[in-house]
Amino acid sequence: MFLNQEIIRKKRDGGALSAEEIQFFVRGITDGSVTEGQIAALAMAVFFNDMNMDERVAFTLAMRDSGQVMEWRSLNLPGPVVDKHSTGGVGDVVSLMLGPMIAACGGFVPMISGRGLGHTGGTLDKFDSIPGYCTVPDPELFRTVVKDVGVAIIGQTAQLAPSDKRFYSIRDTTATVESVAMITGSILSKKLSAGLDALVMDVKVGTGAFMPSYDKSVELAESIVAVGNGAGTRTSALLTEMNESLGPVAGNALEVRLAMDYLTGRSRPARLHEVTMALCAEMLVLGKLAVNETDARAKLQAGLDSGEAAERFSRMVAALGGPADLVERPDAYLEKAPIIVPVPALQAGFANATDCRGLGLAVVSLGGGRRRPEDAIDFAVGLTGLVELGDAIAVGQPLAMVHARTQAAAEQAVREVQAAYKVGDTKPAANPIIYRTIRP
Ligand code: URA
Repeated sequence: MFLNQEIIRKKRDGGALSAEEIQFFVRGITDGSVTEGQIAALAMAVFFNDMNMDERVAFTLAMRDSGQVMEWRSLNLPGPVVDKHSTGGVGDVVSLMLGPMIAACGGFVPMISGRGLGHTGGTLDKFDSIPGYCTVPDPELFRTVVKDVGVAIIGQTAQLAPSDKRFYSIRDTTATVESVAMITGSILSKKLSAGLDALVMDVKVGTGAFMPSYDKSVELAESIVAVGNGAGTRTSALLTEMNESLGPVAGNALEVRLAMDYLTGRSRPARLHEVTMALCAEMLVLGKLAVNETDARAKLQAGLDSGEAAERFSRMVAALGGPADLVERPDAYLEKAPIIVPVPALQAGFANATDCRGLGLAVVSLGGGRRRPEDAIDFAVGLTGLVELGDAIAVGQPLAMVHARTQAAAEQAVREVQAAYKVGDTKPAANPIIYRTIRP
């Protein structure tokens, strides 16, 4: 038996909490016996005095175990249960292709995805743009789809890591979100509640990234790799570029179209392809479905070339209630915006820096994201044809196409996209697409 205030005092004074103390406190977050003030005080103490790796592992496991933890062993699946998580970005449609690609290679992907946050898009919102697709299936259907198709992408349920929901909302309103220890626990508790054998984390770097600097992104990646492995799940992290939109398209239904074009081979934008392949390859190696990266890439390419990955996507959509012929007839189902206008460049030169966060916010302003949690999303709107860093631009040439609901929204988005691109005389040095891979 512990006293919550003594646990807070110990952390306030720079001590290390025992696993038992952490479990006691987290149980109290879930059952309500710890007050909001106590949670806020502990969060602030952790913010200033941090947690060592043992504390982070105990904290992650306690939060994971605050709710349901999925188990797959009883299904005797003929392959590993693997997943990917990203810290969030703009034009990052990777999950929609990655899940089916891994399924095509023999993995099982029970992906619990999130909604858009701030300027970033959310996988869940993208799937909500598919008519009929159920992102909150009952747990039995979810298990069946994972087993039969190899992939199911759905939304967070109240049963998974409920302590994080309460803890996160208090951190959000007490200026204590930006702690690597607590971000690690928050992300991993939710991901590990899916009962994974292996996890690959995509930690973004750049002006559109959640972490504010390269060093902070590295710190988070190293923490997640150490804690994930410490918690018993093989975990690696890739640091990937987010100084510009990952794909040339940002916006929910528009990104679903791009994902299907990618899977069928109609269009595979180079940077999006590289990040998707790198994350998938790491998953196959961690999941022991490939002996090395070369082997993994060959298997992934074969899954794309044979049409198997596209087929898995179609089967997942149909199994979760969406149209069985979405890939063949996207125009019959995915909403289109009534107004499509170009964003003319105001200056000639090279696209040499973008405010990637600004691009994401332009999509939010169009209605493609939320201003308040209860807002409905306009799935049709967004940006396409986004110019890449280093591209040569003439005056008046489109930096992107805006897809908008109203003329006024289109005009505002044009100004926001123009402001997000800096066009200069010199061609910028190309950034790496994958900065680093961090393994245990
Ligand atoms: N995303 C999460 O899920 N948790 C955090 O703490 C930060 C980002």
